[in-house]
Amino acid sequence: MVGPLKKQPFPLTFVLLLCLCGYLAAVSRENTMGVTVLPAVPEETTSPFSISEEDVLQVASASPASVRQTATGRVYLTIDDGPDILTTPAILDILDRYGVRATFFVIGRQAEKFPDLIKEMHSRGHYIGNHTYSHDYRDIYESKEAFLSSIQKNEELIFRLTGTRPKYIRDPGGKLREFRDIREHAEEAGYIIMGWNVDSYDSRNPVPHSKDIAANVLSQAEHEHLWPGMIILLHETRIRQNSVEALPAIIETLIRRGFTFHLPGEAQE
Ligand SMILES: [Zn+2]
Repeated sequence: MVGPLKKQPFPLTFVLLLCLCGYLAAVSRENTMGVTVLPAVPEETTSPFSISEEDVLQVASASPASVRQTATGRVYLTIDDGPDILTTPAILDILDRYGVRATFFVIGRQAEKFPDLIKEMHSRGHYIGNHTYSHDYRDIYESKEAFLSSIQKNEELIFRLTGTRPKYIRDPGGKLREFRDIREHAEEAGYIIMGWNVDSYDSRNPVPHSKDIAANVLSQAEHEHLWPGMIILLHETRIRQNSVEALPAIIETLIRRGFTFHLPGEAQE
């Protein structure tokens, strides 16, 4: 009896330590540009695969009474890591339904797989931003030349499909804050690096419930200092259907609060 009881604390501590390391790794992976620290995402209580009209209203009414109903802020909705056949068509339809335009920071490897979706994004009036060809950290952050080469390879693809060359680029993981020489090199080549200031935290593992993704965005949208240019970070990949499901709540609530949606490079009226 005594032996097993004495041994028990070690594996338990070890397991807890592993959990903590896993959590920290997941949090730090894609959130380096996040400017706001949020409390941990609440545990899921309902099915992660649906968001109803009722949910939309719940999220909208969860905001404090102090929030102004008419904010007149500018929103840049940015969606990274596509295109993907499972998410992009649904996102495009949602954006059309609300008459909203967004910025897709696309990966070259995905663009090669789904060239028609790139054309579709372009023809429906959205901005196609450059998120590198490979999105592979070991490859693109190896040197300033490697980063620029991945950007240019993706740019050629986008140009062939749409006839446009995006100036706005996004560094995977926001890593160019760490690699100043690569950042300067890209800027000298004429690119504008677009970060974000509102993180939906949808890159966490496990992927948060769609209601929590929407709530993460909408709670940060209450910070007035962000209203001149709120840049929302969302992702579209096969395992992130919840981000797509969170979109209607995010868009509806922001429109109702008086925010307007814009694309990078638009003239400020
Ligand atoms: Zn990415």
